[in-house]
Formats: sequence, structure tokens, C-alpha cells
Amino acid sequence: MKPGALEAVQAQLPGAAILLDFDGTLAPIVERPQDARPLPEAVDVLTALIRRVARVAVVTGRPASFVRDRLPVPDLEVVGLYGAIGAPDLTSDIRTDVAALVSVIAGAWVEDKGSTIAVHVRNTLDPDVAAEQVRGPLARIAESNGMVLLEGKRVLEIAPKGGGKGSVVALMVAAPLIRAVLYAGDDVADIEVFVLLGRPALAERLSVCRIAVLGSETPADLVAMADLTVDGPEGLLDVLTGL
Ligand SMILES: [Mg+2]
Repeated sequence: MKPGALEAVQAQLPGAAILLDFDGTLAPIVERPQDARPLPEAVDVLTALIRRVARVAVVTGRPASFVRDRLPVPDLEVVGLYGAIGAPDLTSDIRTDVAALVSVIAGAWVEDKGSTIAVHVRNTLDPDVAAEQVRGPLARIAESNGMVLLEGKRVLEIAPKGGGKGSVVALMVAAPLIRAVLYAGDDVADIEVFVLLGRPALAERLSVCRIAVLGSETPADLVAMADLTVDGPEGLLDVLTGL
């Protein structure tokens, strides 16, 4: 916890980048990922905020279109697929290998996003056991295809190298007009952003507030690095409304 981090961002609001994860951060976690919706108030809160800050962006592992369809906020930036935009499509070998691996695990299912492929284990009998079962084989499939394995809440995803939320956020805060950054997330994939924003060289130039959005599966490492914690998407919207 870092008292004053939020106030420091607030003091630089016209130069602030407000960067937000989607699932578990703006949208409550649901059983079936395709049912995820942001809290209804999110559209109004972000629409009002966007006029007062330098930029507001959602940085997510979802395809950008999924978020745009559910969060119709004018001028909102959405970076999907962990920034793996323009990456080549998956090969049919990867698709076949992943499908074969998952077919033997009841309740697991594959989400093919074109250039990334995710295995969801939330609806299996024991998600921890299922994740354990697929982690090694998926890592090997990723490696042999020159890709990486990313892991989130009950989801393991093969993605191109060089993506990742850290690289997306590093670019977004590099613009000279950015004086402050508020980043909120709730998952393993957000840890690399917290690490990036904790670097002294960056902290010299920017006021930083890292918000961990608490949920049943928020990783302890994320909470430990946070400048502020909030209770669920509701808690985050309260903070954004108060800016
Ligand atoms: Mg999330």
C-alpha cells in the first residue's frame, strides 16, 4: 500500500492515463466468459472521465471487439489480445494439438481468438487439477511454435511473443504528455504491469497508482504490489467516480 498514490494521480489528472483491465476489473467474473458484462454504471463513469484525462484505455486478453460491443464509450481505447494485434493466425497444428489435449478433460473448453488460443478450466470438476494437467503440454505446444503461454484466472492461453500487458502499457505511458498513470487489474496477467510501473526510472517521471481489484481469485503477488486495493468492480467505479 502506498498512501497518497491516488491523490498524486488526481493532482495530474489532465495528464493522466487511466488504464483498466476488463474481466474482474470492470466486469464481474462470471461462470461462462462469453456472458461477461461491465457493470451498467461503467459506461457513464468512463464517458465522464474521458473528458478530464489524457487517455482512458482498456487493456485485455479479450478480442477488442468483445469489449467495444459491451462498453460503448466514445473515444475509449481498447487494446485486445494482450496487444498481440496484427500477429499471424494460429497454425492448424496448434489448433489440433490443443483440441486433442482438452477433449479428455470434462468441462474444459477452447476459445480460438485467431492469433491466440485459450483453454478455459473454470467449469471443470477441479480447476486447479485441470490447469495442472494442461499447463505442461500447453507450454510445450507454445514453445515449439515460438509462442508463449500466459495464465490468468482459470484460463491458460497460447499467445505470440512480445505481447503482454506490460509492453502495451509501457508504450501507452511513454508519450511525453502523460504525467500520471492509474492502472487497475485483478489477475496474473496484470502483475507484469505492476512490476513495470514500480520501476524507479518510471516513477521519477510519472505519478503512479496501481490498484488491485479484489475478488475470490486475485493473486497475492498483485495485492502485495498494489498502491491501493478496492473491493470488486464496484469499488473501482467508486474510485474512478471520485477522481
Ligand atoms: Mg482481469
